[in-house]
Amino acid sequence: MLKYHSLSGADIASLLEQEKIPAFRGRQLQDWVYSKSAGSFREMNNLPLVLRTRFEELFDLEVPEGVRAERSSDGTCKYVLKLSDGNLIECVYLPYSDRRSVCVSSQVGCPVGCVFCASCENGYVRDLTPGEIVNQLLFVQRENACRVTHVVFMGIGEPLLNLDNVEKAAEIINKEMGISRRRITVSTSGIIKGIRALADKKSEMTLALSLHSPFQEQRETLIPAASANPLPGLTDAADYYFGKTGRRITLEYLLIDGVNDSIKAANALAALAKRLKAHVNLIPYNKVEGKPFRRPPEKKIKSFENALLAQNVQTTRRAERGSAKAAACGQLRYETSSNTKKENDVCFKGSQS
Ligand code: SF4
Repeated sequence: MLKYHSLSGADIASLLEQEKIPAFRGRQLQDWVYSKSAGSFREMNNLPLVLRTRFEELFDLEVPEGVRAERSSDGTCKYVLKLSDGNLIECVYLPYSDRRSVCVSSQVGCPVGCVFCASCENGYVRDLTPGEIVNQLLFVQRENACRVTHVVFMGIGEPLLNLDNVEKAAEIINKEMGISRRRITVSTSGIIKGIRALADKKSEMTLALSLHSPFQEQRETLIPAASANPLPGLTDAADYYFGKTGRRITLEYLLIDGVNDSIKAANALAALAKRLKAHVNLIPYNKVEGKPFRRPPEKKIKSFENALLAQNVQTTRRAERGSAKAAACGQLRYETSSNTKKENDVCFKGSQS
């Protein structure tokens, strides 16, 4: 059986042609799946029953099971989803006044092993398929009766270590869900080969590089994969990405108290950002249970930010959303058991849960 959401519109059209199913039925099918976020063929009530039955034989919609949902007062909602093989992943819905974003996972667990991150604690299990990535968006759309406008690959996993599937998912998100590639952000811990490969594909996606330190030695202590992806090669790759795509990159910088929040670090970061013509996004650390790191006091965060601004570096501070429910950056935890339901969890609209 074919995994429906891993197929492009062209793949579906050619399959239906082989089945001698009229093209307009294919358009109706795509509309149900991507615009109406249908979770089953049964509900596609403008399609003849015989066709719905045939689609059930041909395709697997791979609808993930909602295991848990934790909603914060700002509307942010973190979902724990169970995949068809029993593995658990997480995604986060972030509603704003002008857009509806979803932070998606790209892998089950993560092989990178950043020391401040909760997502890699149980190691790496496998890559997600394009369909499993796309299904996170459709799940959020169904649960919130909304259309997603922006996608960020900042959930569990390193997207550039699963580049082919992330690219295919981006193609489906763009062409079938109508979300511009410019509204899809891929966040990487700094995989040089992946950045160059993404540049060669002339991807229009926004690239966010999690720098976290402008010093090679310190980067290696925070992000173990940094030793195989040293700063000189990384900055060359960032230049290459800009040269090939014309898209400015964002440097993500997690501010950790007493670790990387000195003025010396701010000045080195400013020099790097200016060289790369990059925007800097500061993310004050959110406490992760069991990790020895803390968020810097507000005064130190301000001084760091001011040091960048004084050197004309375009700097923003990430609006904090959902930290109360551990839905902020680096707080998505790959869980290994489906027995995670809690008393206050929200009920799902779908039949699962
Ligand atoms: S921060 Fe990202 S790349 Fe690093 S371990 Fe966590 S999920 Fe992986």
